[in-house]
Amino acid sequence: MKKNKILIVEDETNIADSIKLNLEAEGYNVEYTTDGQMGLHYARTLKPDLIILDIMLPKLDGFEVNKIIQKELSIPVIFLTAKSDEISTVLGLELGADDYISKPFSMRELISRVKAVLRRLENTKSHSMSSQINNNPQKGKFIYDDIEIDIDGRRVLRNGNLIHLKPKEFEILVYLSSNQGMAISRDTLLDKIWGIDYFGDKRTVDVHLRWLRKKIELDSQKPKHLITVRNVGYRFD
Ligand code: CA
Repeated sequence: MKKNKILIVEDETNIADSIKLNLEAEGYNVEYTTDGQMGLHYARTLKPDLIILDIMLPKLDGFEVNKIIQKELSIPVIFLTAKSDEISTVLGLELGADDYISKPFSMRELISRVKAVLRRLENTKSHSMSSQINNNPQKGKFIYDDIEIDIDGRRVLRNGNLIHLKPKEFEILVYLSSNQGMAISRDTLLDKIWGIDYFGDKRTVDVHLRWLRKKIELDSQKPKHLITVRNVGYRFD
């Protein structure tokens, strides 16, 4: 089996060294660099499967690096955050990051998150996603009023115009729409989309729903499709 390549961008060399050693012990191919500009250069040339990205970095900070990576390469990113205000920025902005972990963290926790992200990536690649979804042996195209969801093509269109969705936004939309009319709890969404080994909190679901609404609703303040069900979660109408 091909070894997964992981890039670490972290200016604290003792942390980077320790992450590298631990990931190598797990059998991953690991490179690291200590500033944002080199991080970007490595991301472009090495095309890693996953990037572990510190936020406070010399030359170019982690947010900037991630923005460019998501635009050019869509490589999954796990942010390393040092302060709680960084966490709210990670959650509040549409960064497309797959996860974040706050310093100080345990290596065991970091490794299990790395594994979870890579596993999700494999699942998405092998298109086994649809089989994980309840009541959804669906394939093909589904039209809900102005929204067309093309499951095989992993595309979503509104009034014929392609909408760019991040992988998890797409999965949420497919999951909710395949359970149309049913209230789905945040816990269920966390389990189905992020996996039961996900450590994050339920706010993650709300943040992704907010992004999704902005993209697929004509007026995200008055959603027609993605309805909040109070004290439960969400429903697709
Ligand atoms: Ca740093």
